[in-house]
Order: sequence, then structure tokens, then C-alpha cells
Amino acid sequence: MNILNTYFNTSYNTAPFSEIKDTDFLPAFKAAIDDAKLEIDAIVHTEDEASFENTIEALEFTGQQLDRIANIFFNLNSAETSDIIQKIAQEVSPLITEFSNDITLNEALFKKVKAVYDRKDTLDLTTEQSTLLDKKYKSFARNGANLSEEKKQQLRAIDKQLSQLKLTFGENVLAETNNFEMLVTNGDELSGLPEGELEAAKQLAESKDKEGWLFTLDYPSYIPFMTYADNRALRKKLAIAAGKKAFKGDALDNQKNVLQIAKLRFERAQLLGYKTHAHFILEERMAKTPQKVEDFLEELLVKAKPAAIREFKELQEFANTLDGIDQLEKWDSAYYAEKLKQKRFDLDDEKLKPYFKLENVINGAFKVAQKLFGLEFEEITSIDKYHKDVLTYKVTDANSELVAIFYADFFPRPGKRNGAWMTSYKPQFIKADKNERPHISIVCNFTKPTKTKPSLLTFNEVTTLFHEFGHALHGMLANTTYPSLSGTSVFWDFVELPSQIFENWCYEKEALELFATHYQTGELIPMELVQKIKDSSAFHEGMQTLRQLSFGLLDMSWHGIDPTSIADVKAHELKAFEGSQLFPDVKENCMSTSFSHIFQGGYSSGYYSYKWAEVLDADAFEFFKEKGIFNKEVATKFMENVLSQGGIEDPMVLYKRFRGKEPQPDALLKRAGLMPAN
Ligand SMILES: [Zn+2]
Repeated sequence: MNILNTYFNTSYNTAPFSEIKDTDFLPAFKAAIDDAKLEIDAIVHTEDEASFENTIEALEFTGQQLDRIANIFFNLNSAETSDIIQKIAQEVSPLITEFSNDITLNEALFKKVKAVYDRKDTLDLTTEQSTLLDKKYKSFARNGANLSEEKKQQLRAIDKQLSQLKLTFGENVLAETNNFEMLVTNGDELSGLPEGELEAAKQLAESKDKEGWLFTLDYPSYIPFMTYADNRALRKKLAIAAGKKAFKGDALDNQKNVLQIAKLRFERAQLLGYKTHAHFILEERMAKTPQKVEDFLEELLVKAKPAAIREFKELQEFANTLDGIDQLEKWDSAYYAEKLKQKRFDLDDEKLKPYFKLENVINGAFKVAQKLFGLEFEEITSIDKYHKDVLTYKVTDANSELVAIFYADFFPRPGKRNGAWMTSYKPQFIKADKNERPHISIVCNFTKPTKTKPSLLTFNEVTTLFHEFGHALHGMLANTTYPSLSGTSVFWDFVELPSQIFENWCYEKEALELFATHYQTGELIPMELVQKIKDSSAFHEGMQTLRQLSFGLLDMSWHGIDPTSIADVKAHELKAFEGSQLFPDVKENCMSTSFSHIFQGGYSSGYYSYKWAEVLDADAFEFFKEKGIFNKEVATKFMENVLSQGGIEDPMVLYKRFRGKEPQPDALLKRAGLMPAN
């Protein structure tokens, strides 16, 4: 018997990593999909009248074995992959897509779901059940289940075109990124660049059999160049190349694709009965309507603009004094900002790192969680792990009841993708009166310890750890009945609240006192350093905010209206940027043609979420600050109304229950120095 298809008879029912062979995955997936199909068939073929229990709840608990295998497999594919795992992923992904399409296109199943949905008001459901019913119904309706056969065909045709166009869009951006290289053969032209960047550029040149230093549009090459290179002409060259991606009128140009994607999204939304694509998307977001998003962006724009203009003028003067620059251009922004920041704060990572030994920081996060929510973290060695570096913990509450199993995987290695993320091996849910506790994991890429030096984190890594730990708490403290509503399964513009709010503790004296001590001397981090961290984090927030808002406005300008009459991508874009533009426009550049977030990825009508989440976390943390950052009452409210509730209710309702009112942008504006702190 394939171990993946059996009950895990392990301690805490954890995944038996060491007993799973790569060759187990494919047959296990196939068997689990077959089982899930049988479960679906059983729902469809039951003779009894469709009820919440025999249809909606039954559907919710189908495919649990498949989910469990998928969690293990795809988590491994991210954190500890191999050629074999990647090959299996290629084979398995279409099987899973096909299976989930089979469900949403299953007309007999939809009939049953709709029969329950139509009787919703007579069913006497709990709030959570009612949310689950809506969610299940919409998963069909939003895919066209209510449409006539003819319109269904139209929808499928649009979906097919859209997926092709998005693919092409992404391929063009990638090709444009890869096609550009800037070779510098005279080392004198590279003054200002740090040693490490020069070395990387030299190695890159060597790897392509070239003499000199090679720079590309990849972020690790592009960002340092724009930040440090003294040579203004080369900065200009690189910046214009970056802004020109897929906007050259050649075979890789994305203008037609942009227009076509926007148009098809609009048509799709109309077909489903929505006014625009943004209306369709935002229905399942905390913000709810395009109007709300536009008002939100406009309000912040009005409030951030004076500061942005002030910062811009100051930067202009600084550049003028330093180098006689008359007109600050886009390619000057990062360079002079970095110089000004250094001058003002004189803060570098090397000064801070000794106070942030990894073990101290993780214990600090545990202590904060202990003080706020009464959680205890105990390292355990009795469960299986997928790599020896992974740490495993048992998490219990004040009554010593099991809350969760927690995995922490901190160091980079081949086979782990970049970045940091939180994930789970098992969600929390309640079935047959048993509250199944979740298995949560965070994965990071922090500096490894050496024989002589422990892992010392940069401040950015410290906030990253707290960020992911905040997501983890959302998963660990979950307390819902249905797995699809549990933990982090919430609307997109709400999911970053628990993570971002947790970062705030890293800037607070009372919290830093718990863990930020020098790894050799044990001395507590000097508070003037902490103040510098705080001050520098608000540096140029006006300009940064304006930039983020301009992207959000551009996104809405494509998706919040009927785009069919737009013919000129660049002209449309200029209009969208009108109120937020600080730098002179570069006529040969265009943002939309390489704005992959919204035209290839899933951020269409969602770019505002970045700022939205910041408003939420600042507003929520202000509540803590008012009462004390370790105030039990506020913490309990946050746990009871947000962290434990997953997606069982509309996030605005949950938030107001915690905060007593809707979120306001004032706290963020104060934190960012865009509004006087009283
Ligand atoms: Zn996050």
C-alpha cells in the first residue's frame, strides 16, 4: 500500500517524510483523485433531496486525501525540490487542474448546490455555514454555471484566449528582459558600485565568454546599478532599456496584448453579469467595489502628495548641490535617495546584525506570541522532517492543549526557491466533533551560520521572520469548522493583516528588550539605533507611496471601466498617471506593456491590496499602542475576531468587531511621516 494513501500513524499525525519515496507521488495522486471522484459521484447520485449536509458539507470534505498529498508534494517542490520532483510536478499539475475543472463543470453537481442555495433563507444555517454555501455556489457561478449553453461556450473561448494571451505577455516580458545586456569594458565607468556587485557582474560576463562587466535587467543586477553607479549616462541607458520592455513595436511588443487582455476580461465580466472586470474581482475582496478602491487610492494620494512633492524637491536640490543636476530624472531617483539616506542616517546592516542572532530572534517571536496569546513553543525531535536543518515545535496554549505543530526551515540550499513564505501541511478543521489541529510551516533563506559565527540577521530579515510568523499564527490559531474557511483562507486584501501587523513589534523597545541582545556581549540593542531604524524606515515614504498608488490607479484604469474604446496604450497610461507623476515622462517607455503583476499574474484589480494591507496593519497596531503593545485585552480581541476566524465572515465585519470601527488611513500616514503624529 502506498504510504501517502494511508492514515499517517505518526506522532501528531504528521507527514512521514522519511518513509515517502519520490516514486510514491504519482500513483498516490492518481489514487486520491479517483477516490475524490467517487466521493463527488456519491453526492451527485444520492437519492435524498439536496441538503446543506449531504451536498455542501459533503463537498467541502471531499478530496481531503488529495489535498494532503498535494500539500506535502508542492511544499517539497518549493523547499526541497529535485529534477525528479519537478518532473512529477509537470505531470501532476494538469491532472489536478483537470480534476478541479471537472468539478466546476459538473452540471448535475451544480444543480444540487443551486437547489440548496436557492433555499438558503429557509435553512437556519450558522454564519460559517452560510459563508460556505455562498462560497461553494459562487465557485460554480463565477465560472459560468448559470449561463446558457451558448454563453458557456463563449466563456470557455474567452478563457482559452486569455490564458494564451497572458502566457504570451509573460513570454515577451521574459524575452525582453533576457535579450538586453549592457557590457562595460572600462572599469573606470563603474565607480560607486560595491565590490560584491562588481564581482557578480564580472562573473556574469565570464559565464558568457565576455571581457569586462555585464549588467542585465534582472533585479539583482539592475537594482544595485541604479542605486550605486555614479555614471549617469549608463544609469539612463539601463533605466530606459528597462522601461522599454515589450514596447518597441516589434514581434515582442505587448501593446496589442494589453488591449486584448483588458477587453476580454471586460467581456467575460459582462457575460457573467458584472459591470466591469474590477466589479467581478472585488466581489470577493474586503474592498468590495471599484468605487471603494478608487476612493481609497484617491484619499491616500491627496494626503501623500504634499510630502512626496517636498521630498522630490529636497532630492532635486541635493542632486543639484552634489552634482549640478538641473532636472532630476527617473534614473537619478534611487541613486541620490541612497546617498541622501546614508548622509542622514548613517545606518548599515553590519552595525545591527550582532543584535539579531537567529536563535534570539525566533525566541523573541515566540515570547511575543506567548505574551499576547499565551502560546508555548517547545522544540520536539519526535517527528519526521524533510531536511535535517528543519526545526520542529509543539505549540500549546495556556491550558497545555495542543494548538499546532510548527516547522521552521531557515537556510538556503539548492532545491529551495528564493524568498520567504508560510505554508501548511495540514489545515485546521472540526470533523465529528474533533478539532484537528494544523501543521504550519515557515520557510526562509537567511544567512547560514559558519563554524565561527552564528546566523546573524539583517533588520530586513528580522521583519521578514516576524512577517511569516504572523501568517503562521493566523494558521496556528485557526478555529473554524470547515478547512476551506480556515486560517489564511481569507480574502486577498485581508490576508496580509496578521503578517504585517506582527512586523510592528520589531520596532518597539518593549519587544526588542525580549530578544535583541548582542550575540557576544549580551548587551541590549542601543535605543538610538532603534530610533534610527524607525526614522529611516519612513524615509521617502511620500514618494514611495505615490509610486505604489500610481500602479494601483493604472491597474484600476484598465479594469474598472469599459476598455473597448482605448486604442493607445501609452496615452491611456499617461492619463492614469496624471495626478501622481513626479518625474518627467520618458516617451519611449511604457509601464503597462511589462506590468506582469496585472496582465500575467493574479493582481488585476488587486494592486491596491499592498497599500490596503498597510492601512489595516497600521490601524490595527495603533489599537495595541493605545492600550499597550502587550495588552491582553486587545490581543484577545485580535485572536478571537481575526486570527481564529479565518474566512468564516466578511473581513470588514471581523475587523470592526476587533477594532470597533472601520480602518482609517491616519495611523499609516502618521507612521509613514505623512501626517503629524498629533
Ligand atoms: Zn505575507
